[in-house]
Amino acid sequence: MHRGNIKYKVRYMPDTLNELNFMVVEDDDFQRKVVTEMLLSLGATMVCDASNGRQALDILRREKHKQIDIVICDLNMPEMDGMEFLRHLGEERQHVSIIITSSLDKKLIDSVGKMADMHDIHLLGKIEKPVTPSTLKVLISQYRSPENKRRQQIIAQTSPFTLYEILDGVRAKQIEPFYQPKLNIASGAVVGAEALARWIHPQHGVITPDAFIPQLEQSGNIDGLTFLMLEKAASACRMFHNKGFQISISVNLSLVSLDDTNLADRIMKVVKAAEADPEHIILEITESAAMTNVAHSLENLARLRMYGFGLSIDDYGTGYASMQQLTRIPFSELKIDRSFVKDVSDNEALRVVVEQSIQMARKLGVKTVAEGVENRQDWDVLKEIGCDTGQGFFIAKPMNLESFLDFLLWASMPGKDAPGPEQPGVS
Ligand code: C2E
Ligand code: CA
Ligand code: CA
Repeated sequence: MHRGNIKYKVRYMPDTLNELNFMVVEDDDFQRKVVTEMLLSLGATMVCDASNGRQALDILRREKHKQIDIVICDLNMPEMDGMEFLRHLGEERQHVSIIITSSLDKKLIDSVGKMADMHDIHLLGKIEKPVTPSTLKVLISQYRSPENKRRQQIIAQTSPFTLYEILDGVRAKQIEPFYQPKLNIASGAVVGAEALARWIHPQHGVITPDAFIPQLEQSGNIDGLTFLMLEKAASACRMFHNKGFQISISVNLSLVSLDDTNLADRIMKVVKAAEADPEHIILEITESAAMTNVAHSLENLARLRMYGFGLSIDDYGTGYASMQQLTRIPFSELKIDRSFVKDVSDNEALRVVVEQSIQMARKLGVKTVAEGVENRQDWDVLKEIGCDTGQGFFIAKPMNLESFLDFLLWASMPGKDAPGPEQPGVS
């Protein structure tokens, strides 16, 4: 029986592949050899292999092999199949990234991918056999060190800020909008940006919203942040228009704020003071069961629409009673949640859902925005199925005002290429 072995090939490769340790888990001797050789020829210097899940687990548990970074794993194997192997990895909190290879039906491979997600296993991707060097290389390039990820998670979990510190930050106006571009998918033109809150902390640098928005919402203090964001975003919007960029700016509105029937007027006042036009401001609202006072919310939303603001349903598809919401809110934009957008090019079911949402929005006369577009394949499919607007890391990450201005200038230059990650602001 094959006992699992380790192949070292020491040579210099100007590539990160030589810094990673691989394991190939595959019962077919020939295929196992092929994939191992492929990895070595791509520049890997440490590849070990196993012929089923049990053997792979044994190798991972043995002290000296704890450093395996990427496991390339078949699903259909004797003794312990790929599904059981993934479950154990999850339960044992083995910090490896996985690439699934299989000749099984694509839908089945997709659902195993979802299962891995639920076990909190970092899935780099799935390959339908035969494995080729180019697909392997693309998936390996998605690898991110779990050390960094874990460190970030620890920082997020133990959010070091008390409510008082956060409130002080808001009072000192340390919260700044970062701008993420929204592009017309058909033409590639920049049509707007979403303003996303960042706390520019004097000691800790740039802090993302998960470390302060939940506390503000839960304690009933979100309005201070909302109005600070609105004030800054509206004056930036005025400035963009003065410089000749006819774009709209989207601001996130917390559902709890909609309880106050004066909200629409307070928003209008801030936008007017910044000399911005409500026609260029879109308010994004996440649909949720938590709409405490529906009548008050609807009064506010109707008034905002009457004043000319755009209204967007954020995270569409994930919330509560999506359909009901659509019939109640006088909205102008549907923002399809990124969980439907990511991998839309690779998953028939997602494509159907997104396509239907776009058709429905078109019949209702509202614009569609796809959020979380991360690669060209997904972008191309969205283009093909007629989504109006795209936003996501494929175009650019959220960036500060200065970088966003550079981005606008760059995007308005004649003769530049179609959108892609070569743009400024992408990191
Ligand atoms: P959201 O409104 O759904 O905003 C989109 C989030 O997705 C942003 O996270 C953005 O950085 C991230 N994102 C953009 N493109 C991609 C992509 O291609 N892939 C992936 N994986 N993510 C992408 P961020 O900035 O951390 O904001 C998180 C959430 O915090 C927002 O989700 C929003 O609900 C909330 N938030 C942010 N700013 C504000 C604000 O001013 N007020 C309120 N009430 N909530 C805010
Ligand atoms: Ca949003
Ligand atoms: Ca969203």
